[in-house]
Amino acid sequence: MKDDTMTRPAVLILLGPPGAGKGTQARMLEEEFGLVQLSTGDLLRAAVAAGTDAGKQAKAVMEAGGLVSDDIVLAILRDRMADPDTAKGVILDGFPRTAGQAEALDGLLAQSGMKVTSVISMEVDDQAMIARVAGRYTCAGCGEGYHDDFKQPATAGVCDKCGGTAFKRRADDNAETAGARLAAYHAQTAPLIAYYEARGVLQRIDAMAGIDTVASSLSAIVGRLSAQ
Ligand code: ADP
Ligand code: ADP
Ligand code: ZN
Repeated sequence: MKDDTMTRPAVLILLGPPGAGKGTQARMLEEEFGLVQLSTGDLLRAAVAAGTDAGKQAKAVMEAGGLVSDDIVLAILRDRMADPDTAKGVILDGFPRTAGQAEALDGLLAQSGMKVTSVISMEVDDQAMIARVAGRYTCAGCGEGYHDDFKQPATAGVCDKCGGTAFKRRADDNAETAGARLAAYHAQTAPLIAYYEARGVLQRIDAMAGIDTVASSLSAIVGRLSAQ
């Protein structure tokens, strides 16, 4: 595995607006490099489905397209980071999303002698983001992501990965909520680009390109990190 040569487990951050392709690419990097994808959106949706206290508090905020409070998100992330599989290195997808979360992440990683290895800003324009989320759906069995226009299963209605035939769409993937999510991104998350740039760990990629082209750019970046 390529991450054998890393001195410390890699902590990669995929930064980008909703629909940038963070989840799609994180799953591909997970397979290629043996890193663990950690999506706070997925963890929050699981908490909502399980009806936990955190899930109950998060539900309405998520449906409205706002950001869940740092306290709730950090508690969920801390729990997940305590699982042993994360020692292989992680790809953070959708976290951090605020300056407070970025600072808390530094503190959490420092406790185990780790730090953020690389932050990749996935740049897409606002119009593309709306089209990406409006056509998004996932396999209910394995979570593989699809799109009405940009990524269809090879056989209509059958998941390429697991053969499942049930698919689902997110409640917040509609045009109204997408606008609120985009506004939250610009106001609270985009400033993190400068935060990480100042630390010399930021790289930008053109996420308007096709899925495979974006995957090649990311794979080259992560491959170089692994070889360091
Ligand atoms: P994010 O996790 O950043 O919100 P996703 O990975 O879920 O984004 O992608 C959003 C939607 O756009 C999905 O339906 C996915 O299949 C599709 N998609 C992802 N990357 C691209 C791309 N480079 N070009 C076209 N469609 C894409
Ligand atoms: P997307 O793939 O469209 O970027 P996510 O699945 O990452 O969306 O997140 C869905 C929703 O969950 C967000 O709109 C927000 O309400 C909540 N959420 C996810 N991650 C965070 C986070 N790090 N901080 C605050 N809220 C979050
Ligand atoms: Zn599937």
